Amino acid sequence: MVYDLVIYNGAVLTVNASFDQLACGMVGIVKDRIETVRPFQSGDPLPVSKLLLDAEDGIIMPGLVNTHTHLPMTLFRGFADDLPLMVWLNDHIFPAEAKYIQESTIAGPVQLACAEMMLSGTTTCCDGYFLEDHVAAAVQETGIRAILAQGVIDFPAPGVPNPADNIHAAENFLDQWARRSDTITPSVFCHSPYTCSERTLRAAKQATRRRGVMFQIHVAETETERRKILSDKGMTPVQYLEKIGVLDEKTLLAHCVWLDDTDIRVLADTGATVSHNPGSNMKLAAGIAPIPEFISAGIPVGIGTDGCASNNNLDMFEEMDLTAKIHKARLLDPTRMDAATVIEMATRKGAEAIGMAAEIGSIEPGKLADIIVIDTRKPHLQPRYRPASHVVYAVKGSDVRDVVVGGKIRVRDYRLEGMNLASVMADVNRIAHAIGKGDPPP
Ligand SMILES: [Zn+2]
Repeated sequence: MVYDLVIYNGAVLTVNASFDQLACGMVGIVKDRIETVRPFQSGDPLPVSKLLLDAEDGIIMPGLVNTHTHLPMTLFRGFADDLPLMVWLNDHIFPAEAKYIQESTIAGPVQLACAEMMLSGTTTCCDGYFLEDHVAAAVQETGIRAILAQGVIDFPAPGVPNPADNIHAAENFLDQWARRSDTITPSVFCHSPYTCSERTLRAAKQATRRRGVMFQIHVAETETERRKILSDKGMTPVQYLEKIGVLDEKTLLAHCVWLDDTDIRVLADTGATVSHNPGSNMKLAAGIAPIPEFISAGIPVGIGTDGCASNNNLDMFEEMDLTAKIHKARLLDPTRMDAATVIEMATRKGAEAIGMAAEIGSIEPGKLADIIVIDTRKPHLQPRYRPASHVVYAVKGSDVRDVVVGGKIRVRDYRLEGMNLASVMADVNRIAHAIGKGDPPP
């Protein structure tokens, strides 16, 4: 067997269904897929491969799956903090988006997001925003894998000044990107049950169902939202979405903080999936989603950072650490959300939540070769008893040394391949400078 790429000489966390680990192993890749996973001892003859990547006793694991992002929002990192969600959204974020998010400004912030994600070990993201056609063009250049959704809201939005056109714009996006890229899958993202009418929600879901792609929506993020939908519709946000027929296994719900036991049963029965965003929910004081309860009910749950303005980074290692700890604190039980469960959420379960379980999320023969190598030769990663413990509680995104997406090396020895990061950062800072002064977009 001649491989195209072999990653060897590291602890392998396969994150397969039985969470198999190799103390020292190798992963052989042919074209874009994993061919072999097996033990490797130092001193063993090296496999025959066009390219060899020595993990140098680090940790080899599946690339992380960020199940909830708004990529262009890196532009607003640190722009408005320490505010309640509705004030933050209505008085700061929505006006800034209306003024500064344009076709000419969107590529830089998107590429910055992709750079940040890949450099910290994320190989797939699931995004929703406006002008998603331009988002997709910028993402495509970086090589990261992504589900990208055109945003739908019943207000004028960047690229869709007349909300009556929002479904048409979403359908156009779905059709344009249906078969355009190996790494990008199109989707639709309705902002929320309180910013989209029943008619809009039904039509958007119908558009995705007809094409067999994911439908996404923010749901029950705050107690205010739950109360509003209860008073407007006479039922909880989840039960309302169920009643109007938008919940099924191709519906991903972000947040799900304010759910009751009936809501949880409804989600489990419909097969809908959840993105857990602990950093964003903590920063906006939205609350803590009952994630262990979701998992017990059999609901597939992934982890997401949410947009950069409410986090304020895209580091999935930080999000794993928060996920493990926030629920222990809430339930006063340190045995809940153990490291293996959290790693699964950030990889295989996240892949399931976004409808890609067959393709990514674990290191198994036949799956796409989306793999990262963590450098453990650092003071904060010594000693090492259990790699899974380090991944959740000690590793930082900045410890990721190499990143492979679909068999292609995208980060090598901490450096992005094929992207001019300095020019991307300069571009974003130029726009941010105008925002800071209140000037028109450059
Ligand atoms: Zn969001």
